[in-house]
Amino acid sequence: MLSLLGRIAFARAGRAVGRTPPDCRTGLVPLESAPMGKHTPEEQMHQLLTGHNPASATLRRVFRRVPSGPNCKMCAAPFGGPGGAVLRHLGFGRYAGNPSFCGWCIKDLQKMGVQGAEIPVTLLFADIRGSTAIGERLSPTEFRGFLDRFYRISSQAVLASDGIVDKFVGDEVIGLFFGGVSGERHVAAAVEAGRSLLARAGRPDATPNGPIPVGAAVHTGVAFVGSTATGDVVSDFTALGDPVNTTARLASQAVAGELLVSVQAATAAGVDTSGLERRTLEARGRTEPVEVVAMRMSGEPGEAATEPGEAPTTSRSA
Ligand SMILES: [Zn+2]
Repeated sequence: MLSLLGRIAFARAGRAVGRTPPDCRTGLVPLESAPMGKHTPEEQMHQLLTGHNPASATLRRVFRRVPSGPNCKMCAAPFGGPGGAVLRHLGFGRYAGNPSFCGWCIKDLQKMGVQGAEIPVTLLFADIRGSTAIGERLSPTEFRGFLDRFYRISSQAVLASDGIVDKFVGDEVIGLFFGGVSGERHVAAAVEAGRSLLARAGRPDATPNGPIPVGAAVHTGVAFVGSTATGDVVSDFTALGDPVNTTARLASQAVAGELLVSVQAATAAGVDTSGLERRTLEARGRTEPVEVVAMRMSGEPGEAATEPGEAPTTSRSA
């Protein structure tokens, strides 16, 4: 435990933004982050989000080893369990104004005075196919439990691959993966999360009412990642821009049990696409169609996961 606390203190010292050179000369701060004091707040935010602030990456790695969640969206500090109780005393407790973040991260964001930065980011959108029909079939309480299982399975899949759950919107989950939280392999991490999510959701025992029919998509590009803050109040932490809208539209075209990965993301993730079906999809509002590869979760109950009337609506080119 002592060594863990030492590592947290070490990482936290390096993470502190706007530190002046004297702190950096103590030798406690990793070299790469030493000139932080000379960087503009915009540059510091960019470093933090792209993962080029090694202290932040260390902190996240350390925290991920401490049970138990839920965790701070930004630094992964756990809020629950004995670990959470200890960390609360070190300033990493859940921030009252925004339960998704710890107090330390909120302070960081406020100190920088910058809301975010344009960085390469990978998005995973996953939603339940035919949820209206499922809602009709189940009692309201059963449906609530069904959605709950979906939330749990999807957030576990996203967190296990070092992503952050951006938000749940009705029957949809959005996962974010970028350098600052997922490391350089953020595209591969998102694909891995998507596959694991679909495999788990497609299991016959995923819920007491059977599998969850989920369609998902992964796409990557440069987007604005940051907080939507009003004055000092950090109200949310999210991604905005064309890759976000494109991923949403791709996901809406995935049938149950299917993960559509844009060729751009598949290439960046190093996915072997040779045996995969390729499709060209029109994304509403985009001038250029998007080329995707379709992954189906094999060995899982593809048939059972497909809702009646959920036939593919896109033209296929094998
Ligand atoms: Zn935090």
